[in-house]
Amino acid sequence: MKKFLAVLTVLLFTFTAVTALAAIQWRTCTKCHGTGKCQKCGGTAYVTVWRFVKERDKDGKKHMVKVRRRESCPECQFKGRGKCSNCKGTGRVEVRI
Ligand SMILES: [Zn+2]
Ligand SMILES: [Zn+2]
Repeated sequence: MKKFLAVLTVLLFTFTAVTALAAIQWRTCTKCHGTGKCQKCGGTAYVTVWRFVKERDKDGKKHMVKVRRRESCPECQFKGRGKCSNCKGTGRVEVRI
């Protein structure tokens, strides 16, 4: 009887493992379309942004000026790596069904 129970346990375990595997599917990441690259910065990890900064003109008056700046991308999975935040740079996402 003990042997029968052991076999049953093994069978049950195998069945669970198989169904668990079948329940996972990989889909192409819709955010980066499978490239794995961050779409915000195109994988460069940097974005060019416009920022307002205070500056003094020649008369000593303060005023705001618009300047272009290169900043590290806020959307990347790992800051400064240029990887898609949705799929962690793999280009695909796990889907459980
Ligand atoms: Zn990015
Ligand atoms: Zn992605």
